[in-house]
Parts: sequence; structure tokens; C-alpha cells
Amino acid sequence: MNALIPFSPPRIDDEIIQEVTAALKSGWITTGPRTKQFEKELSAYNGNEYTLCLNSATAGLEIMLRWFGVKEGDEVILPAYTYAATANVVVHCGARPVLVDVNTSDFNINVENVKAAITSKTKVIMPVDFAGYPCDYDSINALVNETAIKSLFNAETKEQKKLGRVMILSDAAHSLGGFYKGKRTGTLADATVFSFHAVKNLTTAEGGAIALNFEAPFSNDDIYKYLCIYTLHGQNKDALAKMQKGNWRYDIIEAGFKCNMTDIMAAIGLVELTRYDNKTLIVRKAICNKYATKLSNYSWAELPPLTTANAITSFHLFPLRIKGITEEQRDQIIQKIFDLNVSVNVHFIPLPMLSFYKNKGYTMADYPVTFNNYSREISLPVFYNLTDEMSDCVLNAVISSVEEIINSK
Ligand SMILES: *Cc1c(COP(=O)(O)O)cnc(C)c1O
Repeated sequence: MNALIPFSPPRIDDEIIQEVTAALKSGWITTGPRTKQFEKELSAYNGNEYTLCLNSATAGLEIMLRWFGVKEGDEVILPAYTYAATANVVVHCGARPVLVDVNTSDFNINVENVKAAITSKTKVIMPVDFAGYPCDYDSINALVNETAIKSLFNAETKEQKKLGRVMILSDAAHSLGGFYKGKRTGTLADATVFSFHAVKNLTTAEGGAIALNFEAPFSNDDIYKYLCIYTLHGQNKDALAKMQKGNWRYDIIEAGFKCNMTDIMAAIGLVELTRYDNKTLIVRKAICNKYATKLSNYSWAELPPLTTANAITSFHLFPLRIKGITEEQRDQIIQKIFDLNVSVNVHFIPLPMLSFYKNKGYTMADYPVTFNNYSREISLPVFYNLTDEMSDCVLNAVISSVEEIINSK
């Protein structure tokens, strides 16, 4: 029997180790030149003006909500089908996550449902690019700019008055490198947050980034400078600036957060970004296309959108759905796949099924499409070092396990 095929191990090779070693030997290990370089390269990659790197996507999402002044009594609209981080940050701010149901087609937030959920308390919409496939940003942007929706908006803070409408904060934890109508994620919303967690397409071990993309009269430069301070204790000088001769005095302008990226993390990110389009994404795309081609021969297989007229995924996940099965059958199939030494996963357990949100009164019955997607979903392994032989094993394990369960009905 083969060794267990993992789900999504990070790609740690000599190139990464050398660059991390160089960062360690440079004597500068916290936020410094490598982080600043990584930020510039991310902005160049996505085509937005300024990017701020942090220690996680979760921190990035929360920082943007707080920057916009989201607080108790406010509402933030997000899909019921996402990782808990998207909703937890809303709770941290004291606001209420308003969950809406998603699409069958692409797993993403349904814009009609968003529209129906908007009230005078709505401050932010957080679309999530599920599996790396971008949401319908034209419709979301058009919605928040509709006259009737704009006139509902109750601007309370300086930033809210300046924007004059609901902010769009994209949870792009999965979608770095994805496209919507020829534009990269990072340029599709007011602010877009990427994750560089160990399981994501591009990793820095832990890490995240906020791509700022606000329109005038906002200055993304000013927002970037402010957020650098806000994410480092509210201190008006960072460690690098304080290193300059005689430049020791600092001030704290507010009780800020502490969620900066280190240069050790950025060292990994710089190597990863350099090879992202020309190596990582090519391999991930080939794996996903192979799964799609082979599985399209089976009438029970419902394939995820990869490349469509409007969007191209970042090939983060391959969320396969099996037609006509129950949640229990899905779980049995997963057990069989694991028994054949292949790791698979489920993205995600919907928020209303998690204790904290269930106890807050959210119920799964309100989100039938989310439940239907979830109950039939199995994510297949996609990672750089997955060989052709391994993807054959994955396909064989999936096909035999599904057929065994659906034929035993
Ligand atoms: C991974 C993930 C996050 C959190 O990213 P971190 O960098 O671990 O904070 C947020 N949203 C979604 C959809 C994710 O998959």
C-alpha cells in the first residue's frame, strides 16, 4: 500500500531555506526591507497601489473593519459558506454577521440575497472567493452604488462619510492569482485580503496582506501609512525608523494592534511570489484540469468552475460535489478514500452548523443552497509536489469509493 497522500503540504525547498537563512543572517528578522519589498511586489503583481503585509488574513480583515469604524449595532453581510475567520472578525468588532446563502454554480455569495439583506445598519459586504474562483464583483459593485442602496447607508465615521456607501471587503484568502473579467483579485473591491497560511497557494507559514484599492478622494498612500502605525501598537515610528542614529523618541497615537509581518515570513513570500505564475499556478492548473477531465466521464460528478467566460480560478481547491448523495453518504465516501491512503477535506462546515454561531441563533435551514453544497462536497488534494502518479491514485480512490457507496444505496 502506498504512503498516505497528504492534502496540501507546503513547498519547502532549498530556495526557500536559503532565502530564510539570508534573512536570519542579515540581522534584521522583524518587519523590515524584505517585508517592504514583498509588499511592493504584491502590488505590482495585482495592479493595485499599496499593499500592507500582516501576520494573517484574519488580522487584515479585522483591521479593515476597524479602520472603517464597524462597531456594535452595525451589520456586515457575508456568505454562510466560508471559513469561520470571515465571521469571527465581525464579532470581534461587536457587530452582527448577517449570513446569506450562496450560489449552486460557483459556491460564492449570491448577489440577490445580498441585496435582500441590506439594511440601514449594513456597513460592509465581505464576498469570499470560494476555492479561488472570484465572486461576481461587477454586480456587487453596482449594487452598493445603486441610489436606493446608497441612500439607506448611514455614514457615521469620517471614512464612512468619505466613501458614502457600503464598503466591499473581499476575503480573497483563496484567490491570489485569480481573474475576474481580465482583472486580478486585489483590484476588484475597495480592499482585498489575502492569506499566506501554510495550506494556501502562496505561503509565508502564517501571514496575510491587505491590497488597498480605494477610489478618490481616498489616498491609498495615506491609508497605508496609517495602517502601518495601527498594526504596530499605534506607534508613530517602526523599528527600522528607530534604528537611525539619534532617532529614538517615539509616540503612541492610539491603542493600536500588533499584527505585523516579519522579514523571515517575507523571505518565504518573496521566493513564492517569484515562482507563483510560472510554476505554482501552472502545476495547480494542470492537476485541477486533470481531475476535471477524468471526472467528467462520470455522471455522478459535479465539477467546480475553473475557467469560465467571466473568471479564472487561482486553482486553490478542487471542490468536487457528488450528485444526489446525503451528508452521511459523503462522510462514508470520505472514510473510504482515506482508507485508500488519500487525504481529502471538506470546505467548509457552514457557519450555522458551528456551536458558536448555532448558539447565536443561526440555523442551517435558512441556507438551503449552502447546506446542499456542503453535504455533497469533497475537496481533492492539490499541491505543487503532487505527481501524476499520485493524482492517478487520488482519482482511483475517489471513483471507487463513490461508486461503492452510491451502488450500495
Ligand atoms: C484561510 C482562510 C482565512 C484565514 O486566513 P489566515 O491567514 O489563517 O488568517 C480566512 N478566510 C478564508 C475563506 C480562509 O480559507
